[in-house]
Amino acid sequence: MQLSDRSISGIFHALKGISIMPLREKPRLSTPTIAVLSLLLAFLAPVSLCLAETSNNGWKMIKVGGRDYVSIQSVKSFYNFTKLTRTGNSVVLENKKVEMKLKVGGNECLMNNVKFVFSNSVVASGNGIYISRMDLAKLIDPVLRPNFINNAGDFRTVIIDAGHGGKDPGATNPIGTEANYNIKMALRLKKLLVAKGFKVKMIRESDRFYSLQERVNIANTVKVNAIFVSLHHNSGGRSARGIETFTLSPPGVSHYGSALKASDAHKRAGNQHDSANIALATALHGSVLRRLGNNTLDRGIKRARFSVLSGVRHPAVLFEGGFMSHSYEAKLIGNESYQAAVAAGMVDAIVRYRFAVGRAPVSATKP
Ligand SMILES: [Zn+2]
Repeated sequence: MQLSDRSISGIFHALKGISIMPLREKPRLSTPTIAVLSLLLAFLAPVSLCLAETSNNGWKMIKVGGRDYVSIQSVKSFYNFTKLTRTGNSVVLENKKVEMKLKVGGNECLMNNVKFVFSNSVVASGNGIYISRMDLAKLIDPVLRPNFINNAGDFRTVIIDAGHGGKDPGATNPIGTEANYNIKMALRLKKLLVAKGFKVKMIRESDRFYSLQERVNIANTVKVNAIFVSLHHNSGGRSARGIETFTLSPPGVSHYGSALKASDAHKRAGNQHDSANIALATALHGSVLRRLGNNTLDRGIKRARFSVLSGVRHPAVLFEGGFMSHSYEAKLIGNESYQAAVAAGMVDAIVRYRFAVGRAPVSATKP
């Protein structure tokens, strides 16, 4: 855990046991905790009620395999969950607006039915259940309290990276290439964002090859606050399907599907936005799922150290919009209604994310 990472204000200091004022003074978890997750996930309208104050009873922590773990009871009281239910290995935390489901021994967390993949499994010890401090600080907290993300920054610019292109077609199937589907999606997204008053920077607008480093360099020429969305389509075994959204692994978390190695401890450029990254991923993944309904499966929000996520100096996500290798999804991906639904979900998400990190909505009349 990086002491210098100031982006996770309250919770980080609380976990370190440092006497930071807000926690000593019985924090008003109030509107943010509850309303904002619903904003990000787009399931519920924002509410303005103030919740009762909670007292800080301190964080109960244990060490497992050298890592810090925090008791689920502490999570319950800090985030104002009103109910904690354990049935066998299943754990459910809930209040009026948020339902969080966990499994002891598992690394999936469902928040309002959107799937997040934890970096470390949930553990039981004695009568208690514990989640890693990493997952609490780098995932749960920025999702529940995006308004606490200090360096999210107001933004009007969206950088769209249509993956692959030119000599690199990406995934292919008998009816199309990923590079082509990615650019189609990018152009749709651009059009909708411009109509909402956003500025859009396209990494590519034609079937042209750019290396991953060139994409990073182009994105980093944008000096104003911006967000970065990389668009891809998946390929895998014949039965694999669904959408997934990747954000950069925080330091100390491995690249998706790989064992932890020494270099995973190094901080990458994109790690300056760890909290914003997961908040943006939450908004985007949740909104696209909502738009697609039964036409997709939720593969979850995952951590990876892809080049673009590592190098881009803006909050960044990489979205995989379905499997070209799946017979049904291959047709969906080529379907205009499906493409329109994905793009519309992304725009919902970007508007909500911008609002959730505490900024006024973009004016549709002033680009
Ligand atoms: Zn790709």
